[in-house]
Amino acid sequence: MRFNLSLTQKSLILVSVPLAFELGFVIQLQSLLHEVERENAREVHARAVSSHLTAFLALMMGNSLTGIMNSLSRSTLGHTDQALNTKMHSNVKAIRQEAAIIQDLVKGYPKEEATFAKLDQLQKEILLAWDNAHQAIATNDEVRTLRMLVTARDVQNRMLSGLESFVEEQQAVEKSEVLSQARNRERLEAYLTIGVALNIILAVCLTFYFNRGTIRRLQVLMDNTVRLAAEEPLNPPLSGDDELAHLDKTFSRMARALALAARQDRAIVDKATDVICSIDDRGSLTRVSPSAEKLWGYPPIDLIGLKYLTLIAPEDQADTLAAFDDIKNGRSDAPVETRVVCKNGDVIDMVWSASWSEEDQTIFCVAHDITVRKQAERLLREAEANVRLVVENLPVGLVIIEPKGGIEFANASCLNLCGFSRSELVGKHISVLFGQSEKDPKFVSEIVNGANQSNGSQKRAWQRNLVRRDKSTVAVEVSTTKFLGTMGERCLVMLVDMTERNEIERMRQEFLSMVSHDLRSPLTSVQGCLELLSTGICGELNEKGQKKLAAADRNIGQLIQMITDLLDVERAKSGRLLIFPGEVELVKLVEQCLDTVRMQAEAVGINLRAEVQDMFIVADGERLSQVLINLLSNAIKFSPAGSDVVVSSRTLAEWVEVRVTDKGRGIAREFHGKIFDRFQQVNASDVGYQGGTGLGLAICKAIIAQHGGTIGVDSEEGKGSSFWFRIPVRVTANM
Ligand code: ADP
Repeated sequence: MRFNLSLTQKSLILVSVPLAFELGFVIQLQSLLHEVERENAREVHARAVSSHLTAFLALMMGNSLTGIMNSLSRSTLGHTDQALNTKMHSNVKAIRQEAAIIQDLVKGYPKEEATFAKLDQLQKEILLAWDNAHQAIATNDEVRTLRMLVTARDVQNRMLSGLESFVEEQQAVEKSEVLSQARNRERLEAYLTIGVALNIILAVCLTFYFNRGTIRRLQVLMDNTVRLAAEEPLNPPLSGDDELAHLDKTFSRMARALALAARQDRAIVDKATDVICSIDDRGSLTRVSPSAEKLWGYPPIDLIGLKYLTLIAPEDQADTLAAFDDIKNGRSDAPVETRVVCKNGDVIDMVWSASWSEEDQTIFCVAHDITVRKQAERLLREAEANVRLVVENLPVGLVIIEPKGGIEFANASCLNLCGFSRSELVGKHISVLFGQSEKDPKFVSEIVNGANQSNGSQKRAWQRNLVRRDKSTVAVEVSTTKFLGTMGERCLVMLVDMTERNEIERMRQEFLSMVSHDLRSPLTSVQGCLELLSTGICGELNEKGQKKLAAADRNIGQLIQMITDLLDVERAKSGRLLIFPGEVELVKLVEQCLDTVRMQAEAVGINLRAEVQDMFIVADGERLSQVLINLLSNAIKFSPAGSDVVVSSRTLAEWVEVRVTDKGRGIAREFHGKIFDRFQQVNASDVGYQGGTGLGLAICKAIIAQHGGTIGVDSEEGKGSSFWFRIPVRVTANM
């Protein structure tokens, strides 16, 4: 049967069982000792009684002898010997004293008390007999003396035999008590021997039990600690439910947790892409993670014991040694960047994060591959150099200023433009470039916050005169852009030399005025002449001549239209395309436009239709006609014969919308926005198609914009187009 006892219970048993045994043993010993003491007391009592009885007997015998002597002296001398008398009296006194002592001794021993009472009685009778005998002697009564003496002798004989048997009795008791004491002493010795032996056996048994149940279990626990350190599997769990079993369970749990943590640590080290290693105080590698093979090509086992310095590129070795020395001596904990020579001879950049452990006399390192970063840095540096090169050589002057207007950078183009050297310019205020008084806050605000007016993201350009170093001036277009640099908010000022552009503009203006006056006017006169010729004022022309005249008139008309368009586009671009609103009857306006293109439509078999509201609007009628005619002639141009072209209108609150819808080829979605820009056509073949220039829709857009409206197209390729414009019902002049 097994008991699941706790350690506390076991220790209780270990203490209480021997204690109980000892207690029983002591009680038993005590009772034996009592017995021996009692027997000893009995023996002492018997000895005392018998010795006093002996003394009593001797006194009695002495007394008898003295009595006899006294009687003899009376009978022979005729008088009593005084000395004998005195002796007799003292004898009697001593006998009485002895009797009293014996009486005291036998008190509490009923049998002895009774026996001695009889003897005492006899003693009294003897003394009385002797008294009587003496009296008889004194009176010379020989008969009575004899009789008394005989009586005294008889009684004395009886008492003597009684005394003898009493003494024998006591001696027998004494003897038996001595024997009994010897027996008990033997028993006591045997008891002691057995007790000690049992005690030893019990102690051995309990030790064995405790050893089996505790020490061996403790040894299992201790063995587990050794196994844990050696990373060996632990012993099977301890059975039972005592403290040691609990301790074993806790230890097993702790070992499992430690093993898990170690596994995780190892997994981290094994799976780490960085090389994790330790270097002893002599610079030898003591542990290296498996990633070393992947990164450096060396299996970790080959690296153990190797000096780490042998891995470092020779030109980096001195610096690396010094840096590691600093780490070891606590002078630095900064990462160390160094190059490592791999097994295959490749050199890779690594950054070592290292820390020195005084306790382990070891440097623990994590080496991270930064080759890619270094390459990126190199590329970045190259890119930076390229950007710098581009920036320096851009044909635009670039100046970077801080928020208060201080110049931080100026590119080569800027230096060329203004004639200052870079050192003369950097650190100066931007105002020096414009001949302004130093740090004029208004001017700074104009330059720096120029970009603010367009939310800081778009540039705003304006013209200013830049004052060169030699005080000459040059017209520049200034534009600014704010940006957030590494040092905070900065402003990029771009300076474009306007000399050339202004010259081109001047030439363009000259060309336009030439086109408008020197080309259009003569062409208009030529057109007038042709018209006159066609009336026959200069004589009748034959049919061939008529045809040629009509063709020349058409071509001149197209040329004039083209020049007009060009001028309109230019006006629109420079904001000089003015409108002059007036009251316009929409139906009438549309009818007039239809009349204008009717011949063109009929020529290609297109049916024109108007579905327009009867309403008045306030707009520039002429310009609106220009828009409508353009949309109509495009619709006719790109519609198949026999199809309809419809002009419709609708009002949307304060707006009026006019649409020109055809059933022509339609326009792909990606062109919907583009065709309203200058010289934009859907197909390359549209250039010159029926007099197409790609300017018409751009002019329409500009005119509608001047009306404060919008223009657009709804169209799908192959499904016709619907061009529309929306303008306010009441347009305000020259918006
Ligand atoms: P163009 O003088 O060439 O007609 P526009 O600006 O009026 O110039 O038109 C630009 C281009 O838009 C045309 O060349 C043509 O490709 C396209 N386009 C304009 N209207 C239509 C339409 N109704 N159907 C198809 N394409 C059109």
